[in-house]
Amino acid sequence: MATVKFYGNETVPLEMHKVRIVQKLCLPPVERRLEKITEAGNNTFLLKNADVFLDMLTDSGVNAMSDQQQAAMMVADDSYAGSATYTRLENKLRDLFGMHYFLPAHQGRACEHILAKAFVSPGKVVPMNYHFTTTKAHITLQGGAVEELVTDAGLEVVSVNPFKGNMDIGKLRALIKARGADNIAFVRMESGTNLIGGQPFSLQNLADVSNVCKENGVLLVLDASLLADNLYFNKVREEHCKALSIREITRRTADLCDVIYFSARKLGCARGGGICIRDQGIYQRMRPLVPLFEGFLTYGGMSVREMEALTVGLEETMDEEMINQGPQFIAYMVDQLQERGVPLITPAGGLGCHIDAKRFVDHIPQAQYPAGALASALYIASGIRGMERGTLSEQREPDGSEIFANMELVRLAMPRRVFTLSQVKYAVDRLAWLYDNRRLIGGLSFIEEPEVLRFFYGLLKPVSDWQDKLVAKFREDLGDSL
Ligand SMILES: *Cc1c(COP(=O)(O)O)cnc(C)c1O
Repeated sequence: MATVKFYGNETVPLEMHKVRIVQKLCLPPVERRLEKITEAGNNTFLLKNADVFLDMLTDSGVNAMSDQQQAAMMVADDSYAGSATYTRLENKLRDLFGMHYFLPAHQGRACEHILAKAFVSPGKVVPMNYHFTTTKAHITLQGGAVEELVTDAGLEVVSVNPFKGNMDIGKLRALIKARGADNIAFVRMESGTNLIGGQPFSLQNLADVSNVCKENGVLLVLDASLLADNLYFNKVREEHCKALSIREITRRTADLCDVIYFSARKLGCARGGGICIRDQGIYQRMRPLVPLFEGFLTYGGMSVREMEALTVGLEETMDEEMINQGPQFIAYMVDQLQERGVPLITPAGGLGCHIDAKRFVDHIPQAQYPAGALASALYIASGIRGMERGTLSEQREPDGSEIFANMELVRLAMPRRVFTLSQVKYAVDRLAWLYDNRRLIGGLSFIEEPEVLRFFYGLLKPVSDWQDKLVAKFREDLGDSL
């Protein structure tokens, strides 16, 4: 596909869509933002959306739908069993992935629940490039263990490696040898590897993993929730993919796997999820769990409208001009922030921008939650809501001591086709201001700390009056600006 070059020197990601429905946003003044984040216990999960200017918390279920998706929702065939809507979805998945069987589920974690129940038992191991929170929870709930086999490059914050999501093939072989193929529940590869910064794997790496699986008679499962980003990076970063269409890369990816599951809150810009399966026996092993936990086999917890939107969304994912929007906006934001010295995960991946709080606020000890403090400071400075991905997101040891996270990140998700470039520029500007004033940012401490999932519900306070000083400096530098 030809990219649009500008006559001037600037490289600008040009939107290949126009906006036809808008939602009014509100940007409360900085003093009010301080009040709101204080009420929310300095926890961005507890902010009300009405008080948020740019919601960059997540890309889940908040991507913009196309006109065609919305139109399809109006012709959905509403029936409990055997709806034509379901058949259209099933046929689309067969067409794209070349796998005969499909099981619908209400979202990505429900697929993980079913897979774990069917294949994981105490003593079993699931090797993967990297875990996702819900994946790991479902595997360990069934008594299994996760083994992370991402290449060393995957955990380097600053890198130029184009495929930080690759699995280390040597480590995979060694693990299968050490544990025995019979004890491997399945091997899992995650597209656009979420927790290490939306980093892709190469098609070549997937082929190598697939070979090892075949040699050992082990099942290969793909988490395709962030497949759209991975396909884009295969196309632009991998030499032998340059001449292939997105549809061809999709099929080659699928041909290497036995099972593909996905969250349709991300893939296909809708809501829902499902599991595509090549082999009848494997399908039959999981099938009874769908009516039990999700719903009848022709909806699995999804509404027919969601299924129609998903069918169209999956087809639209085959359009490079559609799937390039997220990664190109993210690359633009990463470039601009790097120019201003803001430390972040590189190279730019999918999903969003990942600010490295360990370096941004290197004066804040990990025990005072630097990533949480930075997320709070960013909301005060901009009205932008990001997500803490650091020590706050960990759970304490049974003896009460903290587990300090490897990475202290503030993730700024880029929901697909939702924000305009001027809004991205605003985010860059406010982050640059905050970086220049980073010494004003202080730590946080708990007021109320839940035992499980403390990052969702926990309430925190600043360790000093640093937030008031930040507001005062904002007024000094930016006058009466919102
Ligand atoms: C979001 C996500 C999931 C879980 O999907 P939900 O629809 O939120 O349950 C699983 N895997 C990956 C890689 C994800 O990004």
